[in-house]
Amino acid sequence: MAKLKIAELFYSIQGEGRYMGVPSIFLRTFGCNFKCAGFGMPKGELSREVEDIAARVHYYNDYKQLPLVSTGCDSYASWDPRFKDLSPMLETDSIVDSIMDMLPYKRWMSEHLVITGGEPLLGWQRSYVDLLSHENMRGLQELTFETNGTQELQQDLKIFLHKWCISRSMGAITFSVSPKLSISGEKWEEAIRPEVVYEYSQVGHVYLKFVVANKQDVEEAQEAVNEYSKRGFRGHVYLMPCGGVESLYNMNARTVANEAMRLGWRYSDRLQIPLFRNAWGT
Ligand code: SF4
Repeated sequence: MAKLKIAELFYSIQGEGRYMGVPSIFLRTFGCNFKCAGFGMPKGELSREVEDIAARVHYYNDYKQLPLVSTGCDSYASWDPRFKDLSPMLETDSIVDSIMDMLPYKRWMSEHLVITGGEPLLGWQRSYVDLLSHENMRGLQELTFETNGTQELQQDLKIFLHKWCISRSMGAITFSVSPKLSISGEKWEEAIRPEVVYEYSQVGHVYLKFVVANKQDVEEAQEAVNEYSKRGFRGHVYLMPCGGVESLYNMNARTVANEAMRLGWRYSDRLQIPLFRNAWGT
């Protein structure tokens, strides 16, 4: 039986993008190809907040005890190897049992499944076939991969997802692609992969969601959208304010909304911050 290393598995309200407000199961897998240590930092500087937490890692025996950070990647513990022992390796059967237990009616109704990370398309693609084929997952009608848009789909998963869609509605599979701009501290040539994102559009509904803090980030997002468009991207574009914590988020939410209106793009909130203060498991 296939296994997945799971950083978090929880039931909450989707706070971002196309499914904002929809009750959703979140499956956060372990591992990412980026670090995104530039978020919330002055241009060119990288956050060291996680270093201090990692130095005390032996004090934490549960993922939920870890401190939230205001700079760098807000889901650092889902990929940083120093926190890997907090993420169990689980068989897909046991994951499905936990999901069924969390659903209010113990079966799928209108809830949707979000497979997120870390970067969920990095290492677990074969296991998703096993997970989604489980008999208790048959009632699932809508599925989102939250991805940074850099990982090609493996043939097995591609074929499976094509079949999965046939018995469901159009747009049953969504790729919520959040390309990393220079604000993240990652390199453009590694982060902006239009050919990969185009491939996703052969399988499901794709939109781009950019995390921005100022006008310069928005200009960079425009450049990136041009690159994606040249490669055939025709989906929606969302701008979302930077900030894993309330103070940072409040600083730029309105500016970002105004920029989205100016460009005819969509604004994505981060509902989990006003609703739940971005605590773990939200
Ligand atoms: S791609 Fe996402 S999960 Fe990975 S380091 Fe960046 S923000 Fe964190």
